[in-house]
Amino acid sequence: MSDTPVIEVRDLHKAYGSLEVLKGVSLSARRGETLALIGSSGSGKSTLLRCLNLLEDSQQGEILFKGEPVRWKGAGPHRHPADQAQVIRIRTNLSMVFQQFNLWAHMTVLQNVMEAPLTVLRRDRDEVERAARHYLDKVGIGDKADVWPAQLSGGQQQRAAIARALCMEPEALLFDEPTSALDPELEQEVVKVIKDLASEGRTMLIVTHDMKLAADVASHVIFLHQGLIEEEGPPEALFGAPESERLQGFLSSTR
Ligand code: ADP
Ligand code: MG
Repeated sequence: MSDTPVIEVRDLHKAYGSLEVLKGVSLSARRGETLALIGSSGSGKSTLLRCLNLLEDSQQGEILFKGEPVRWKGAGPHRHPADQAQVIRIRTNLSMVFQQFNLWAHMTVLQNVMEAPLTVLRRDRDEVERAARHYLDKVGIGDKADVWPAQLSGGQQQRAAIARALCMEPEALLFDEPTSALDPELEQEVVKVIKDLASEGRTMLIVTHDMKLAADVASHVIFLHQGLIEEEGPPEALFGAPESERLQGFLSSTR
């Protein structure tokens, strides 16, 4: 069904020991939508992305990928998604881009982009190489295919990480503060790539401290405060006429 959300989260609760980090969060992203997730440090933004990517489990609530519920088994530290095929399906389709790029230092840029499609998805090498070069061109570093990550600027490394995520041909991209580790003059080259992806109609969930980026690319903005959604809506409303005092305070602190 085409209007089934790509990502749906219902009443998600997540605690680390006695620390409750997510206290009942619900959201959904339909195909082509870009959600921006904003909020103070410690409000649970990364935890939410990590739960979506099955890097963390959760205590309560549901995560659905294209209508398919994630099935958990076991309890406590032994709780795990029951079905490894589902883990691979979800991680492949919700491809993540981290603040610290996380490129493999011992592989060239091209090898970094090709690695997961080859080893996880077992795709044909020639096909993967063609796709990898295509995505490197797309993010503007086609000429860097054969260099080591350490030879790239931070902005180029992050663009390589985005090419790597795209090469999985995911249903959606999850970004966790993709520009936070970059010098201001390098931020813009990454912002431009993200804007291009949004205008192509990619489904994306972006955690960002960059309110201008959120305002420019998001179809829907979610303000998280201490593990709960305090306010959400279209960017014009959230940034133009924030209702809650907490959001007003947060926005004035980021200006
Ligand atoms: P944000 O990304 O919004 O800054 P996080 O999701 O990283 O917030 O963290 C939310 C809270 O969870 C913080 O208090 C953080 O210290 C805590 N936290 C995050 N990861 C862990 C972990 N692995 N173990 C224990 N506490 C954690
Ligand atoms: Mg974070």
